[in-house]
Amino acid sequence: MKHLCCWTFLLLAVTSLGQTPTRIHQRAVLVDTHNDFPSAGIAKNLPFDGNLLGSTHSDLARMQSGGIDVQIFSIFCGPEQAKPFAWANREIDSVRAWVQRNPDRMQWVRTSRELHAALRSGRLGTMLGVEGGHMIEDRLENLQALFDRGVRYLTLTWNNSTSWASSALDETTGRIPPAKAGLTPLGREIVRRMNDLGMLIDVSHNGERTFWDVMAITRKPLIASHSSAYALCPHRRNLKDDQIRAIARNQGVVHLNFYAGFLDSTYDQKAAALAQRYKAETDSLVRAGMQPDYAQMMVAEKHREDYNAIRPPLSLLLDHLDHIVRLVGVDHVGLGSDFDGIEAGPLGLDGVEAFPKITAALLERGYSVKEIRKILGGNFLRVLKANEHR
Ligand SMILES: [Zn+2]
Repeated sequence: MKHLCCWTFLLLAVTSLGQTPTRIHQRAVLVDTHNDFPSAGIAKNLPFDGNLLGSTHSDLARMQSGGIDVQIFSIFCGPEQAKPFAWANREIDSVRAWVQRNPDRMQWVRTSRELHAALRSGRLGTMLGVEGGHMIEDRLENLQALFDRGVRYLTLTWNNSTSWASSALDETTGRIPPAKAGLTPLGREIVRRMNDLGMLIDVSHNGERTFWDVMAITRKPLIASHSSAYALCPHRRNLKDDQIRAIARNQGVVHLNFYAGFLDSTYDQKAAALAQRYKAETDSLVRAGMQPDYAQMMVAEKHREDYNAIRPPLSLLLDHLDHIVRLVGVDHVGLGSDFDGIEAGPLGLDGVEAFPKITAALLERGYSVKEIRKILGGNFLRVLKANEHR
């Protein structure tokens, strides 16, 4: 083992031309395209700028210590919300309030120019994505209003379909039959309008029919903000190889989701057994008014040792990344953690403070500094800029 460590050290020294993994991480632009803190913070009644270590995956101080330069916060509500557009605006208000409260640590980002200004200032570049087309309530003017408030991507569907686009869940369970799946004429109009506005299309959660309908008409590169590779973990939320190849042809980027169940196909079954064991505790939180997903996350945090025992290793996340790189090259992969929207990532990735471990792991796998810079954020910057050109 000892000589292996030496070799690893030598390899690191050579590949990084003397730079330490920490230095490489700090100097790279790190963009995480999906963090669910706005919803988690509301559900748990916790402030983003407080010290939330032990309660959440994210807080402002840990994002900065983790080297995140730009965070895209997910604006989200489930289909049970009666007024999803109003809810989305309420969450946007929350994120704006964080930025206003912390002008020396956070900076609002809507454009590449603003993003670069945030990088120069050393503040956390703060961006917004809306996770679920249901939040525009079938109205193009609501899409415009969200764009005007700073939203820069829309995930066309969440697990629920809209009247104009079918979700992966509904397509794969047959709730929406193939003849009715994909984009409707309104869906195509929305996609075209997003291209015109410069709002990125996010295909995570979308059904395959929707995906291919989007691919046929989009004039701009798109993203999957938080999805992993189906070939390694056959889950409906992951992307198949032909989808990944199509995203590469489109010059888009797949941002890997850290959720243990999207990395390891055995995880969900093991987690279900634990959920059953602690069902009474979760039920009592739900009865007290907590959303079921967050209740489950809180229970998982309480019984951390049991839950840690079923988490996959960090190397599996890197395997997903390697798979995409082998398939389409290093220009089409990035990171979309889904922190605070997932109960667990791989072992060692306990929160936003752990991002430097990914850079160290990339170096160990032989990625060059230039390649690491693309993966951590350079690829996203390219797509954002391409969407800004008319
Ligand atoms: Zn999601």
